[in-house]
Amino acid sequence: MNEEAELLRQRGESVIHLGIGEPKNRAPISAILSSAATLNTGDVKYSPTDGIPSLKKAILAYTEENYGRVPDPDNVIVCSGAKQAIFNALYALLNPQDEVVILAPYWVSYPEMVRMVLGVPVIVTPEDGGLHPRIKDIAQAVGSATKAIIVNSPNNPSGLVYSDEFMAEVVEFCEKRGIYLITDDIYHKLVFDGRRPVPCYEFTDKEIDDSKIIVINGISKLYGMTGFRIGWAIASEKLVRVMTNVQSQVTSCASVVLQAAAEGALTGIQSIVESLRLTIENNRNIIMKELETFNGVKVTKPGGTFYCLPDFSAYNKDSVGLSEFLLRKALVVTVPGKEFGMECHLRLSYAGSVRDVTEGIARIKWALDPDSPNEIYIGNRKLVRDWS
Ligand code: PMP
Repeated sequence: MNEEAELLRQRGESVIHLGIGEPKNRAPISAILSSAATLNTGDVKYSPTDGIPSLKKAILAYTEENYGRVPDPDNVIVCSGAKQAIFNALYALLNPQDEVVILAPYWVSYPEMVRMVLGVPVIVTPEDGGLHPRIKDIAQAVGSATKAIIVNSPNNPSGLVYSDEFMAEVVEFCEKRGIYLITDDIYHKLVFDGRRPVPCYEFTDKEIDDSKIIVINGISKLYGMTGFRIGWAIASEKLVRVMTNVQSQVTSCASVVLQAAAEGALTGIQSIVESLRLTIENNRNIIMKELETFNGVKVTKPGGTFYCLPDFSAYNKDSVGLSEFLLRKALVVTVPGKEFGMECHLRLSYAGSVRDVTEGIARIKWALDPDSPNEIYIGNRKLVRDWS
């Protein structure tokens, strides 16, 4: 779909991208200066596999401030993105045929990564038809082969922030059953309505070294630094050691220039994150208002991220077909829910500009609502409803 959108764009079509997975801000100046300073030394070499000590120190301070825990440096590994941190953890943990519980709707990479390391993804979909996971559905899916559960809150693609009760239950459940809990916190500060991100450590008394909780985080989303490719994992020293062995054979270490950028972001002015959060919360409010006027579309208000996952089944139950239709007829990019294990839905991103959001939803409405005018103009291009 992205390729088709790009082709249309190259042809000069005014495509609106509601599929984007990254904020549009410039990287923080502290990150740019810090990476430029490293580059300027000309002394750009390998770092320790688990990360530059000064970046690890910044991650420890970040963890203390945001998670209320002070890990040991040996509990932290810096990776080339949160994505690699998750992959390293799965590679380190799984034997062939081990199962990993993944909660639908889920980030597309989880099942693929589990399969890549010869594990078996077990998808758990809320039986009540909603988007919030329930511990009773998880309990039914867990068996003797279950090695880990992946929880991502705030959630890509639904935007839901899972309830504190659920997080407490899942921590307790994993501890009782001896299962690893991978919490992907990559959006944790992008939460709205005065909420605060609640770290899973609040629900356990265990020390990090005695715990099977693996916290994943990074700079991609909070600082809008997706291209810098720095993320990290916090876990027991034993697991971090194995993950470090894995990483040493795959990449040696994350780039020192980019690690310096991450350190700059974490130690620089933090109001950048808050202003990004405010912009996105404003966009969330706008997209919710626009969607409310849309008869038949059901949407759960997102508590975080920059996504929402409306249910379009009143219009079309085939999300891939619907997404293709919207691109061809209304020049709007969306992501089919099927990719996230949630058919009948579309993921809409509000990480772009207010204009993208309002214009994108207006075009979708025009294409789907039979009472819409027969023609609209996009710039000087006339779009005509040639379907019923
Ligand atoms: N987890 C989730 C839920 C994501 O949405 C993404 C990025 N789309 C990542 C992890 C990957 O983050 P990074 O850029 O740090 O690899």
